[in-house]
Amino acid sequence: MASNMRIPDPLNLIGGQWVPPRSGKTLEVVSPIDGEVFTRIADSGAEDIDAAVAAARSAFEEGEWSRLTAAERGRLLLRFSQAILDNAEELAQLETRDNGKPIAQSRADMTVTARYFEFYGGGADKVHGDVIPFLNGYNVQMTREPHGVTGHIIPWNYPAQMFGRSVAAALAMGNAAVMKPAEDACLSVLRLGEIANAILPPGALNIVAGRGEVAGKALSQHRGIDFISFTGSPEVGQMIQIEAARNFIGCTLELGGKSPQIVFEDADLDAALPVLANAIIQNGGQTCSAGARVLVQRSIYDSLMARLKERFEAVEASPSEEGAILGPLISARQKRRVEGYIDNADAPLVARGRVAEHAPKGGYYVAPALFGPVAPDARIAQEEVFGPVLVAIPFDTEAEAIRIANGTEYGLVAGIWTRDGGRQHRVAKAMRCGQVFVNGYGAGGGVELPFGGIRKSGHGREKGFEALYEFSTIKTIVINHG
Ligand code: NAD
Repeated sequence: MASNMRIPDPLNLIGGQWVPPRSGKTLEVVSPIDGEVFTRIADSGAEDIDAAVAAARSAFEEGEWSRLTAAERGRLLLRFSQAILDNAEELAQLETRDNGKPIAQSRADMTVTARYFEFYGGGADKVHGDVIPFLNGYNVQMTREPHGVTGHIIPWNYPAQMFGRSVAAALAMGNAAVMKPAEDACLSVLRLGEIANAILPPGALNIVAGRGEVAGKALSQHRGIDFISFTGSPEVGQMIQIEAARNFIGCTLELGGKSPQIVFEDADLDAALPVLANAIIQNGGQTCSAGARVLVQRSIYDSLMARLKERFEAVEASPSEEGAILGPLISARQKRRVEGYIDNADAPLVARGRVAEHAPKGGYYVAPALFGPVAPDARIAQEEVFGPVLVAIPFDTEAEAIRIANGTEYGLVAGIWTRDGGRQHRVAKAMRCGQVFVNGYGAGGGVELPFGGIRKSGHGREKGFEALYEFSTIKTIVINHG
């Protein structure tokens, strides 16, 4: 319950110890619910990243962590998963205060965070190598080994979930991790670090809070890391990849999206309608895989839009209490950015929701907006808004729908609504993205499901078994036994 919420101190987790940043500097933490400063976090620098990377290196090469079997690592992650569930309510309250998201969403996020450690805890001892037929007299083994020290940089939109998604697979493979969470919301990550620290050997998991351009940059440039996993904006992702190239290491980039949901005239609209709306309202539209464009076959355009209009007008942005579905956005900056897109949209506004009267005036509330008909190449149909803004684009034929759906720089997720089995397969195959849902849409859902994008949405896959492969490297051992 809220009264039991433990707000972490402005410290970093390095080598199993909670330590202040070397500079002693801290950053204010503001709650998006009311715009008030309620605590502080470490404002870490390059020297703190150095210490964390050194601690991870030591854990990976000679510490207790390095001596565990895969099964033992898996068991620790399963214990951590259970500990997350045991503390889920407290963690959810903290997440909501820090990030502003509705409490129901925070509770769901904690279940998913625990699930990451359950899934990868179970997977730790199931990553097998191979034996490759070769010349007579040779035995060739292919083994999968951890990279070593992995760097992890995550955004503020799902702090706990992103922590689980990025770190659980890396740890399951035996890497030692250095995590730099986002300065806009990272308290749940620090609290998860406290819980993990009672279970994992020192140095396996290190968490350094601070600003992107300082601590994040220092981590991405650090010569002591062997791999980096980044989730965030395309602009920063590009810099991360350049740094990885300078460092001769690999990286995964999970960036943004402008994901389409295509609604054909034979779709079950009663089933589609709540999902179409929720895919952009969930988490205030601050979801990389938000369903931000709805492509509607022209014959049903007017009727579907009338129903979507009704839904959008009924949505109220409110403080993140019980029953809330749309909370505040993360920051004043994000609110200005989203309002800028709404105010300058190059398309007709169809519907606008409301901001609740009791919402604190200092909070970052934005009423949701529905636009249509929107030209496929309009700015609001091409750029990621990262807010509760849905654009509707009419189309006539299947071929046109495919062209529009694939017609942005992004390629993360797509949704297809049709009862026609042939069309389901054809259109799914034609989508240029990393995940396709047919007659459903799971923005962010499914720990088991490999997830990631192409082009400006990034590359590499997290989630699913694939992530264990991302966080490992292959070694081929050729033995001449005569
Ligand atoms: P951001 O790129 O500004 O920040 C993400 C992280 O990178 C933060 O931890 C930040 O501190 C750090 N960072 C910032 N500048 C850095 C630098 N120069 N060097 C190293 N690290 C740096 O993004 P944001 O504004 O926090 O998040 C919003 C964006 O993230 C959106 O574009 C969204 O689509 C994307 N996102 C993608 C996914 C995904 O899985 N594909 C998930 C969540 C968010």
